[in-house]
Amino acid sequence: MLVMKFGGTSVAEASRFKDVFNIVKHRSTVSGKVPLIVLSAMSGITNELIDCAKCAQASDHSLAAARLTDIKDRHYEVVEDLIPLSGRDQLLSALEIDFNRLSILLQGITYLGELSKRSLDAISSCGEILSTKIFSAYAISQKAPAVYVDARTIMLTNEDYGKAIPNLEELSARSQSEIAALMKEGKWIITQGFIGATANGVTTTLGRGGSDYSASLIGAAINADEIQIWTDVDGMMTADPRLVPEAIPVANVTFQEAAELAYFGAKVLHPLTIKPAIEKNIPVRILNTLNPDSAGTLLVEKTDNTEKICAIACKKGQTAIFINSARMLMASGFLAQVFNIFARYETSIDLITTSEVSVSLTIDNLDKLPQIEEELKQLGEVTVLNDLAIIALVGRNFREESGTAHRIFKALADLNIIMISFGASNINVSLVLTNQDADRAIKLLHSEFFSMAAVRS
Ligand code: ASP
Repeated sequence: MLVMKFGGTSVAEASRFKDVFNIVKHRSTVSGKVPLIVLSAMSGITNELIDCAKCAQASDHSLAAARLTDIKDRHYEVVEDLIPLSGRDQLLSALEIDFNRLSILLQGITYLGELSKRSLDAISSCGEILSTKIFSAYAISQKAPAVYVDARTIMLTNEDYGKAIPNLEELSARSQSEIAALMKEGKWIITQGFIGATANGVTTTLGRGGSDYSASLIGAAINADEIQIWTDVDGMMTADPRLVPEAIPVANVTFQEAAELAYFGAKVLHPLTIKPAIEKNIPVRILNTLNPDSAGTLLVEKTDNTEKICAIACKKGQTAIFINSARMLMASGFLAQVFNIFARYETSIDLITTSEVSVSLTIDNLDKLPQIEEELKQLGEVTVLNDLAIIALVGRNFREESGTAHRIFKALADLNIIMISFGASNINVSLVLTNQDADRAIKLLHSEFFSMAAVRS
């Protein structure tokens, strides 16, 4: 069984739906494996639905209604271009029900002038429902053995709207009962990424960009042979190609390397995607719908790569907090007090460096920063620096082999490195620079580590 997840740009318009269908047909024929297709909403639609909901919250009903009409027109255009007349009416009446429901929801929000997370999930989940209904109708019109499965019947979650946590036992049990038998009969399953439902059947979402995560969870639940994440680039790249045009795709990475890259800004994969795949040791392949013959990037448990660095990722918009305390000299429990403050305000820390009397750390969620700062001031002198970037170099054996730090410092000799975290992990060196210096630093590091033959092919 093959899980094939297609992102929003892969279903941006009618011709792209056709490309997706052809890719699925070709891959499943060549591999002899039955596909389970997970789709995102058409590109931009989730944002547009959220905008609609916000207009309604601001009680601007006419703007919300106009935006909803735009969304509807975009989907109906695809239906007209894609679906043969014989199957069109049935699909259009199904979509009409969804749009009427959306319209009623928006009216309710307009009257109340209030948008709860639960209501927002009810609205933002619709993009995936629409795209999968259209794709299913198209696949059936092409005589594929397609079955539409509403993800809310299998992806049971808690009630944490907006970032709901899936119940893996239920997912596994329901996938076995709802899906496995159909797939054994050779049926293609078409379902939504991103969405789920509570035990009471209330719609939830797994967080923005969560379709990759859905695909990986479902892949693990059905013990898929491979999870394919189809996107619009040729896989994970040695650096962001918009910034470093000579960046090239990385042929294979370990799950751990991929997790570090995803977490530190390689947008090609949602960071949570990797965990379910690791647990079941299912290979994940990142592929490009615009260039389906390219090999992409394969994520596996172990690789035989030997190059020092596999890729460079970057996360901008970080904030560093420097805490300096004379009381820390020879004292125990100081770090525990610092971490406790962040834990109480549910703010996760990314990078930490310490010296005898100081702690420096970075965060990217500033919601609780004023309260955190206030409490930290009880412990020592606090300085906050905004507009920083974390650059992560991901590779191998940093703790065991010499020379990496030297090459990093040499490459960045005339740039100001604000923090460096080396040794926390054997596969990651992270640096903090200003947002402004970050692009230049990435270019310099890329040419230091990749301009020679030290490139994976
Ligand atoms: N459509 C959702 C989003 O834009 C989920 C996804 O595409 O992964 O966040």
